[in-house]
Amino acid sequence: MERLQGIAVSPGIAIGEALVLDNEGFRIPRRFLPRDAVEDELERLHGAFDAAVAEVEFNRQQVADQLGEQYAAIFSAHLQMLRDRRLHEEIEAMIRERHYSPEYSVSRALRRYAKVFQSLEGQYMAERANDIFDIEKRILRNLLGASREELSQVTSPVLVLAHNLTPSETANLNPKFALGMVTEIGGPGSHTAIVAEGLGIPAVVGVGDFLTDISGGDTVIIDGDQGQIILHPDEETLAHYRHEVEEQRTLATKLESLRDLPADTQDGTRIKLMGNIEFPYEVEQCKLRGADGIGLYRTEFLYLGREDDPTEESHFESYSSVVQAVGGKPVVMRTLDLGADKMRSLPDPEDERNPFLGLRSIRLALRNRDLFRIQLRAILRASALGDIRIMFPLISTLMEFRQAKMVLADAMEDLEETGAAFNRDLKVGMMVEVPSAVMMMDRFVEEVDFFSIGTNDLIQYCLAVDRSNKDVANLYTAADPAVIRMIRMAVDTANQHGVPISMCGQMSGNPMYTMLLLGMGLRNLSVTPAAIPEVKRVCRSVTIEHCEKIAKHVSELESSRHVKTFLKEELSKVFPEFPL
Ligand code: PEP
Ligand code: MG
Repeated sequence: MERLQGIAVSPGIAIGEALVLDNEGFRIPRRFLPRDAVEDELERLHGAFDAAVAEVEFNRQQVADQLGEQYAAIFSAHLQMLRDRRLHEEIEAMIRERHYSPEYSVSRALRRYAKVFQSLEGQYMAERANDIFDIEKRILRNLLGASREELSQVTSPVLVLAHNLTPSETANLNPKFALGMVTEIGGPGSHTAIVAEGLGIPAVVGVGDFLTDISGGDTVIIDGDQGQIILHPDEETLAHYRHEVEEQRTLATKLESLRDLPADTQDGTRIKLMGNIEFPYEVEQCKLRGADGIGLYRTEFLYLGREDDPTEESHFESYSSVVQAVGGKPVVMRTLDLGADKMRSLPDPEDERNPFLGLRSIRLALRNRDLFRIQLRAILRASALGDIRIMFPLISTLMEFRQAKMVLADAMEDLEETGAAFNRDLKVGMMVEVPSAVMMMDRFVEEVDFFSIGTNDLIQYCLAVDRSNKDVANLYTAADPAVIRMIRMAVDTANQHGVPISMCGQMSGNPMYTMLLLGMGLRNLSVTPAAIPEVKRVCRSVTIEHCEKIAKHVSELESSRHVKTFLKEELSKVFPEFPL
């Protein structure tokens, strides 16, 4: 048994069979072959080996011609391995005797060799292990053809273990079959993490290298509460976690009874709980949990996972389906927030040196006005069908907000000319997720209809910590006193001027912070749908006076550790069943 620590990003426990995706995205399931398929599969294996040998020979020759024989030696070592009789026999025996698929047999045999080298000291040995992974990939490429697997094709329950997943690949997982996910890299605020939470599946990121220790089909436990994964669990550990799964089911059933009750505090203060969504189908999950509307619709997900730009009609289709599904409740549509980790494919590190400080979000939209206008026209047209509000992301200066409003005014003019119906008075707000916006709140209040605090970005820009980098994940926390002060400044200024303010970052969906947020004056929280019942449970158990005391005490603390310890203690008093 091996227990590994990563970063907890989506709560819950999942127990199941591993589906391993290595860093090229090869999927290597432990598939058993029917008896009569063995000979054909052996032939496929030999074909893949032959093709790999031909490729390496070609590379060897090219390097020898261009750089000289001494540089071609590395390929000779690969060829030797590919022709190794013992390796062939070992893999063939797995196929013949155990009926494993060629992919699984190749991966298992070569990874075992690689591990031996990895366990030996020294750079030379580590490089030999890498050579073996190289050979494995080459054969797998020849066996499997294409590289990245379609994750949406998974049709039996598995835990997805990958080096990395893009947010759109994660969004493609079907929670009916993908019971949980783990990645080797990634940080606590990455959009991959946020999407996993949105799917409601336990997830752990930033575990570090572990994929070589596991094969497809092995049993794994994901503990999304503690951020741990357990490989090859023993019986005792399995029994312990099965019991935890049962307890969580009981708590979920208990919380279901709150669905149709309002999130009022004990003293009768009404708290609005809205849902964060990435896709129209998630409205259903919000409704099932009694959300007061959609407080954040991350529309940029319409662009992810596709090659072409969506047309105005496809924008309109998605938006109108959301408005119609929420049945008269408000929908806050955030305009395009592409860039940084929300790219169409895994970002090329060469593209931008600091993508989170680069051309992302509203900056990208203002540089691509045609693209932006297409989206705004679609939102405006959908505004004729219900209570739609527009929110601009990552506003860092007043000028940016004004420019975005100008593009919106242009889009309105376009529509007026065509005679299309839309709501001329729709509310226009902005995200507060850059410290400069907080510092300028007293000016923004003059021009903005509402604010929503995006803590995921505010934390990273306030503390100078990349939200998707596992190596600085210990510093990335909403409990940092500087972050809390910044939130307080924003809320105080908005409340003093009577401009509505809410919060839609992940902080608002963590019950540990609910009392603090109410105590700081927030009355509207937009959270990941799965978190609505728990946050509601806290709201209904407390008074505002008590929350204000908590917020006051927190304002006197000096470190995130002290803040967390205090808030956990307070939460366990009002919500003892909550797994902390
Ligand atoms: C945020 O930054 O808090 C937010 C809600 O937006 P996103 O996570 O999509 O950047
Ligand atoms: Mg953001």
